[in-house]
Amino acid sequence: MSSGSKSRSARPRRRSLGIQASPDESRSTRGEIDRLSLLNEIAQVATLDVELKPTLQRITDTLARNFDWDVIACVLVEKEKDRFVCLAMTSRLETVPAVGMYRPLGVGIVGKVAQRGGTVELRDVRRSRRYVAWSPEVRSELCVPVMNRGRVVAALNIESRRLGAFEGQRQLLETIADQIGGVIANARLYEQLRARAAQLEMIGEISRLALDSGELSTLLDRVIAYIHEKFRLAASAILLLDESGEMLEVAAYAGSSLRDEPIGAAFPLMGVVGRAIRSGGTLLVSDVSGDPDYVMLHPDVVAELVVPFSHHDRILGALNLESADGEVFSEDNVGYLQALASQIAGGIHMARVNRRLADTNRLVEERTRELEQVNHQLQLANQVLHQLSTHDGLTGVANRRQFDEVLLIEWRRATRVSGPIAMIMVDIDHFKLFNDEYGHQAGDDTLKEVAYALQDSVQRAGDLIARYGGEEFAIILPGTGRAEAATLAESIRMAVEGRKIRHARAIASRFVTVSVGVASVYAGRDGSPAELVAAADRALYAAKRAGRNRVEIGASHGSGASR
Ligand code: GH3
Ligand code: MG
Ligand code: MG
Repeated sequence: MSSGSKSRSARPRRRSLGIQASPDESRSTRGEIDRLSLLNEIAQVATLDVELKPTLQRITDTLARNFDWDVIACVLVEKEKDRFVCLAMTSRLETVPAVGMYRPLGVGIVGKVAQRGGTVELRDVRRSRRYVAWSPEVRSELCVPVMNRGRVVAALNIESRRLGAFEGQRQLLETIADQIGGVIANARLYEQLRARAAQLEMIGEISRLALDSGELSTLLDRVIAYIHEKFRLAASAILLLDESGEMLEVAAYAGSSLRDEPIGAAFPLMGVVGRAIRSGGTLLVSDVSGDPDYVMLHPDVVAELVVPFSHHDRILGALNLESADGEVFSEDNVGYLQALASQIAGGIHMARVNRRLADTNRLVEERTRELEQVNHQLQLANQVLHQLSTHDGLTGVANRRQFDEVLLIEWRRATRVSGPIAMIMVDIDHFKLFNDEYGHQAGDDTLKEVAYALQDSVQRAGDLIARYGGEEFAIILPGTGRAEAATLAESIRMAVEGRKIRHARAIASRFVTVSVGVASVYAGRDGSPAELVAAADRALYAAKRAGRNRVEIGASHGSGASR
């Protein structure tokens, strides 16, 4: 709408809208324009606010600015309470009742219009027996019903100190009443939408919490706090039925109670709750004082509502709500609470499923950990077993079996690359005499000492020291030629002697010594692993024969074997 029409509507148009109709045609046309612009202004006012009360007040104020009327009031019908309530009023009279006043339907002119509809116009209120004086000054009254879908939802009432003040105004007021009807319908729609949005939000919140927190008590606490606050209840609880179906437990609670610490308290199915759960349906006790089953938890409680909730036909528990205001449990609210209750049931079910899932997961994790431990132990045991099966128990070097296996592998490898492979045989000199002299235990210790000396001397990865027989060691040296093997053999001999293990009966030295035989061949060209061993063995015996504590290099076997 243009600002021009707005500014015009601000100034009083009493005269042109007014009581005396002018015979002058141009003035009557002007009156028609003013009426339209007033209706237009009211239509604008109606869209300023979505809340009903301020909108209606703006309408009565607008009417007061435009007319020389004394009282303009708008009342709303509250059918279910059998009364009407004054929602907006603009008045010049002091004695009129204020906004918020209630009257029963049917009382007075307004009460009659609010109850049955139909415009009532009183030219002189003193002639009506029905008229209830709001002010002794009032002389005339016009009351117009506000209709919506064929029902009276409100009434617009105007009064004046002048007699017959509303002559010719009826049609205009009825048009304005229609506009108010639209305003009320819009406000109700908005109110419903807002309530619906809040409900959906809570329902969504419950679903989210159920999925999210996994913590059932958190979910129930939030829900009960929300319900308790929203409906301004005296006591609100979520009760859960136990496995036996005979005991109830307080899972969440809000409000004051005669009991201390109600959370976790368990009690048998009894009272109004027991009755509701046994019946399986919602139970509303509007007046608890008249119910023999009612167990008082709160002295102000007037009404109790129990909404059992179930999942797949199994009752899980109930919403138990107590209120000091019996009217809070209206049909709409009970419907909403039932929707919430079924959402709670879903949440509880979901939380329980989640918990079971978490329990199962934990169990699986535990079992997996146990299995991992067992596997680890098995691995260790296998390692030990492998060590035992491949190594000599006394000296820790490889045993004869491992020696045979490795020799075969290395022989094949050397054959593939046509490389050299060397063998060193070590035998302790006069060891029988040593045992005889110092005892078997000292002999064992000496075997270990000799093994350590070999390990100190033989460092290259791939070389293998093995206990070949009683006091005889064999060393496989892949990729090693004769000269290199001979050098190593000499360092072994020196290392053993260098340990200075006293051997009083030794002939060549005062200490434990070894004789060493060396052989090296090009695998593939020269014989077999057994022949390599035999060659080293022959060299060893040559060393023995030559006087012991010395190294003997085996003669090459076939042409081109030596280097
Ligand atoms: P040679 O210099 O000719 O090698 O003389 P030897 O006495 O060392 O040789 P012989 O083969 O006659 O004796 C080997 C001795 O080694 C016999 C045995 O008492 C000893 N022997 C073999 N295995 C072990 C063992 O595990 N522990 C101990 N303490 N002695 C062992
Ligand atoms: Mg010996
Ligand atoms: Mg021997």
